[in-house]
Amino acid sequence: MPERTEAIIRPDVACRLVMNHATVRETMDMAAFVDACARRDLAGVSIWGEEIDRIGEDRAHRILKDSGLAVLGYNRAGPVIGAAGAQAASRLDAARREIERAARFGADHVMLFTGGLPAGDKDLGAHRARLGEMLAGLLDHARACGVGLALEPLHPMLCGDRTILTSLGDANDLCDRLGPGVGVVVDVYHVWWDARLEHEIARAGAAGRILGFHVNDWLVPTRDILRDRGMMGDGIIDLAGIWRQVRMAGFGGPVEVEIFSDAWAGREPDEVLDTAIERCRSIFAV
Ligand code: ZN
Repeated sequence: MPERTEAIIRPDVACRLVMNHATVRETMDMAAFVDACARRDLAGVSIWGEEIDRIGEDRAHRILKDSGLAVLGYNRAGPVIGAAGAQAASRLDAARREIERAARFGADHVMLFTGGLPAGDKDLGAHRARLGEMLAGLLDHARACGVGLALEPLHPMLCGDRTILTSLGDANDLCDRLGPGVGVVVDVYHVWWDARLEHEIARAGAAGRILGFHVNDWLVPTRDILRDRGMMGDGIIDLAGIWRQVRMAGFGGPVEVEIFSDAWAGREPDEVLDTAIERCRSIFAV
């Protein structure tokens, strides 16, 4: 899988940097975003289904094709848990459709978003135990569509409402059970605190399952767990150190900038992109 992640980046593109649209989605629609990334000679983009809907799928296809940019991540399939009965079945159907759309856009991988605990339900253990079974069907579909399924463990503070997958170790365990076609995305914001991080990165790398490396930073204090991520270098994460571990584990793919931040969403998008690129060049040498 790392080979596949590497191969989608055009050989003539020296830059090993991918921009996630979430970083500037409040100030740039998908057309403007793709254009801005192409002008900066980035290796690729990660895209969002809602943003495709805003400009229309045909136009989104056309602008991506004209730009020559690779699509690394597609956001997203899910949530898949947190509902019962007919609603649960319709969530799985919706996730299947998102997997199909990720494949139509030639994405390397589709981000799987588990969802948090259902309202009033406290049985976290039961939901975690069932997650593998639930993902197995979606993984079969992703395999058939030819797109990787990416599990991104989120910070444990998001366990209540966003995800029940909260450590890289748990994501690795799930991948071990599920088999080929599923991998992990290492997002520094979500995993930097983990004492077992280096071990779990090495484990994911040895299995050839690191699909992506998302960067941003952890600010002190963090005022909002969802919308207060920092620009790389403004926080306390050892970004260069984690990048070294990911590279040592055999990951040959690009660095992907993904910053959800109300502070940065209020700035000029060109300034945000240029700052992010400059920081990545100095921290990751991409
Ligand atoms: Zn991420």
